[in-house]
Amino acid sequence: MIVLNLCCNQDHRFEGWFGSAKAFEEQLARGLVSCPVCSGTGIRRLPSAPYVQTRHAATSSAAEAAPAPAAAVVPAPAAPAAPTVATMMSLLRKMARGAEDVGERLPEEARRIHYGEAEARTIRGAASRDEIGELLEEGILVMPVLPPDDELH
Ligand SMILES: [Zn+2]
Repeated sequence: MIVLNLCCNQDHRFEGWFGSAKAFEEQLARGLVSCPVCSGTGIRRLPSAPYVQTRHAATSSAAEAAPAPAAAVVPAPAAPAAPTVATMMSLLRKMARGAEDVGERLPEEARRIHYGEAEARTIRGAASRDEIGELLEEGILVMPVLPPDDELH
């Protein structure tokens, strides 16, 4: 990582952070480097001042408290996509598939597990809205799941 002193056509001076001098040259050539003030892309590199940079880093906390230099010129890689509803549903289906199907006995079985009367395991089954409400009130975690894919067809 290197810090370069840059300057645009309108003489706005700013710092740019790059992986290397070569990375800067490449991004500049592709028009990816722009001025944080005016968004101009006519950027030129000023003679770097490593002495100033080094001293900056080493000085007291007063320097650290100073606002960060405006230097948002490195294009960030696209953020990874957030998990979609579809992937969440497929995860829930997977959990449901590995669960023991206790059918209508779900509320009863969930209570037995919760109170240590039955082996702790993931179960699935049928419960009415009221029954689910009661389980949740007792501190038992209940999640709605859709039937697995292969049961839909
Ligand atoms: Zn500018």
